[in-house]
Amino acid sequence: TWGHVRGELMKSIGKNNFSAWIEPITFHSFEDGIVRFLVPAKFIGSWVSQNFGDVILRHLISAGVGADRIEFTVDPAAKAKPAPHSADTAPDAIPSPEPVNVGGNNGNGNGLLNASLNQNFTFDAFVVGKPNELAHAAARRVAEGGPVSFNPLFLYGGVGLGKTHLMHAIAWELQTRQPQLRILYVSAEQFMYRFVRALREKDTIGFKEMFRSVDVLMVDDVQFIAGKNSTQEEFFHTFNALIEMGKQIVISGDRAPVDMENLDNRIASRLACGLVVDLHPTDYELRLGILQTKAETYRERYPKLQIAPGVLEFVAHRISTNVRVLEGALTRLFAFADLIGSEITMDLTQECLSDILRATDRKVTMDEIVKKVCEHYHIRQADLLGPSRARNNARPRQMAMYLCKKLTTRSLPEIGLKLGRRDHTTILHGVRKIEELMAVDSQIAEDAELLRRMLEA
Ligand code: ADP
Ligand code: MG
Repeated sequence: TWGHVRGELMKSIGKNNFSAWIEPITFHSFEDGIVRFLVPAKFIGSWVSQNFGDVILRHLISAGVGADRIEFTVDPAAKAKPAPHSADTAPDAIPSPEPVNVGGNNGNGNGLLNASLNQNFTFDAFVVGKPNELAHAAARRVAEGGPVSFNPLFLYGGVGLGKTHLMHAIAWELQTRQPQLRILYVSAEQFMYRFVRALREKDTIGFKEMFRSVDVLMVDDVQFIAGKNSTQEEFFHTFNALIEMGKQIVISGDRAPVDMENLDNRIASRLACGLVVDLHPTDYELRLGILQTKAETYRERYPKLQIAPGVLEFVAHRISTNVRVLEGALTRLFAFADLIGSEITMDLTQECLSDILRATDRKVTMDEIVKKVCEHYHIRQADLLGPSRARNNARPRQMAMYLCKKLTTRSLPEIGLKLGRRDHTTILHGVRKIEELMAVDSQIAEDAELLRRMLEA
């Protein structure tokens, strides 16, 4: 059975992980719902247990083993004999911490140390736009390996803007290019958790050695350890040790190092000494790009579903800058449309996403109208508001007049002031012009309808 489970594990966690972590462990016994394994070193046991414990248990259960949990015991024979395969050796005495030897010394690959990397967080799946292009370029550079370029790379930005995605992408890419690299990705929370556990188990040496034996260390959401003094201290030492050895470090945080309150000044200045780049809040274009990319992948899964024109644009306009929320909205749309067997229409979108949309509901302002009209027609605000009489600016300007009149309670002179037109009869003329055109020009009617929906739905 273990042989079968090993096969399944190889498939689900990948060859590298398998040879680095599962290969060294041996099945020992199954008793009282506990499956016991022998490991050549304590460190391997705790690593496997923490990173692959759930997967192993799941595979055991689906292979028909009624296991409740798994345990790892250091194989007493391991120290003496290089090949620890004697299941009849009593696994009693747990020796003091083994020197950490990531991936073993048998040269069979160290592999990615993390089972926790998200398969979908690759560079290919990352949509690049103005707000994230610098962060993306820096991440790419680090992922190319080569002589250490930006060290540390510090990525920061608000929730859901792609920090974790980029870090995982770096890990995947480095792993592909240089399979022998020992890459460790942890959240700052895991870092702290492991440190505290090491303290409790009096195994700080093992902890230090493990973190210092990697080639690339990535710590996500470092703000978590700000104010946690002993963890910060340990982090600082780990950081310095790795930098001294020329190892690559990538850190993320929710703000720039200097702005992190409670973060030790020494750490803040250390973090800032490589490259610090931020991910800006997404803009309309990036959101639309992300939606289109994701919609493309959904089309493979739901080949029959159609999306009505304007829906993605509408969602990109109306949903916040957090990409996770954006993705959630799209997932829901597809699931909902699939369920009721309908095309994804504007009406369905508004119904299905009403709660998310309501959260962003507010009075339409003239500023927003100007902004949306400019985005829609791809013109600069200066051209819309300025004196230019150029024809391709005239229609958008009239559209802005029309929308201000229809969607706000502003008077014609107020609208005139906003749009840089002193004479309020110009405004009236613009509004009428759009109304006339809407009756005869379906493009204009569509534009007006789309803009109106985006602004006020
Ligand atoms: P953060 O760590 O900054 O809070 P994440 O990296 O977890 O954000 O991103 C949140 C979600 O949004 C993830 O599912 C991620 O794949 C997705 N995402 C963020 N930015 C992009 C992007 N530029 N292209 C594609 N997906 C993105
Ligand atoms: Mg994150």
